[in-house]
Amino acid sequence: FAKERGRNCFSFFTPAMQKQVQQRLSLANDLREAMSKDQLQIHLQPIVDIVSGQVVKAEALVRWKHPKHGMVSPDKFIPIAEEMGLIHEIGDWVFRQAAEAMSLWLAKATGNDCCQISVNISARQFMHSDIGNSWVDYLSAIHLPPSHVVIEITESLLLGDEADVMVKLQRLREAGMQLALDDFGTGYSAMSYLKKFNIDYLKIDRSFVRDLESDPNDRAIAEAIVVMAHRLGLRTIAEGVETEHQKDILAQVGCDYVQGYLYAKPMPVEEFFAFLEAK
Ligand code: C2E
Ligand code: MG
Ligand code: MG
Ligand code: MG
Repeated sequence: FAKERGRNCFSFFTPAMQKQVQQRLSLANDLREAMSKDQLQIHLQPIVDIVSGQVVKAEALVRWKHPKHGMVSPDKFIPIAEEMGLIHEIGDWVFRQAAEAMSLWLAKATGNDCCQISVNISARQFMHSDIGNSWVDYLSAIHLPPSHVVIEITESLLLGDEADVMVKLQRLREAGMQLALDDFGTGYSAMSYLKKFNIDYLKIDRSFVRDLESDPNDRAIAEAIVVMAHRLGLRTIAEGVETEHQKDILAQVGCDYVQGYLYAKPMPVEEFFAFLEAK
């Protein structure tokens, strides 16, 4: 019957697809309440200086502890939050939590090479919002020097409505925050962005790190990213480092920072501080 009615017909909507859509709808409804019910958290993952072995930065990653489904991955609910327009509220909350964690870290830290927190921002968060000014104001309200904050963006963001994105990114940068290009090498990697936008860090995507030990091409790619970054005055952070051997190869090619399960998984803020103290 479906065949008779042609290609664009609803019969292609299989029960499995229907189930998926329903799950999404139900998650979307729950997400509306997640904030007010305190179900969101941030976790921090250490970022280590590859030479000194010290934890010098941390990435803030949002977590949703759903009452029925347990931990829901941000890869799953961030896109929903974007579609529903909830991403601004969630993103502002994540930023403030991260900034407060950074203030705590600063208060506990003794060395003078301490330290930065990075926060992920999706392209949608830049649309119809005043990210630039409100975030700068927030940092000044809690007396956190903006140089302790790194904003992680992806290439897709730089592909958007450029003029507008430019102005907002510029505002964050002028205030003293730094910028990292996340998942580098997986998107368009149009090198012209590196010229136009003032980026401070390139994050070498996990997909190049995973097979570093066995695939000489991945080593070549990692090395090429590091060389280019350094020539442009940027630093590199490798993501998803799970083994000592991967770390050694990254050190050989001159990568600056490493992040991954080899050191620690993302963890709640209090655990992160306990982890630092135990080191
Ligand atoms: P990302 O920014 O590239 O974050 C790195 C992801 O890799 C995190 O997944 C982290 O837990 C995971 N990871 C770190 N080390 C390892 C490792 O050694 N092995 C493996 N297999 N994985 C590792 P997570 O926390 O599930 O986040 C997924 C993505 O969701 C993030 O990718 C980011 O794009 C997005 N995201 C997370 N938090 C936020 C947020 O607050 N706002 C926005 N807009 N996006 C977020
Ligand atoms: Mg990131
Ligand atoms: Mg990444
Ligand atoms: Mg990613």
